[in-house]
Amino acid sequence: MKKARDAFTLYDLRVEVVATGKPMVCNHAAGDFFLVSGENLSLPPGQTFPIYPLAALLPLLPAKQRASDENDWMTTDALIACPDPHCGGQFRIVRTGRRTFRHSEVTRVPLEKRKASRRVRG
Ligand SMILES: [Zn+2]
Repeated sequence: MKKARDAFTLYDLRVEVVATGKPMVCNHAAGDFFLVSGENLSLPPGQTFPIYPLAALLPLLPAKQRASDENDWMTTDALIACPDPHCGGQFRIVRTGRRTFRHSEVTRVPLEKRKASRRVRG
């Protein structure tokens, strides 16, 4: 199949709770997880995920979705500590696969216009 001219790829992510030797305080348990695909976050049926660690994880997810240099710490580092300093939970962000998206399907900003404005600044 021919690749669309405006295609790009993002990693799908799995963010899972990892236990440490320290007890957990928040309402997350080892093995709990959520998935990220494009702009969508999904949880297994019946599972919840506390909003405070989610708030700490959210800024990292778009960066982990994108390809990064093999020497970049964003490529190698995958364990994130829970923001509650008394909680022993950690979260592992795993790249599970790549998914192709089309620019024209995820934004209304024309691709040509974006390239033109880049030239003006550059
Ligand atoms: Zn926690």
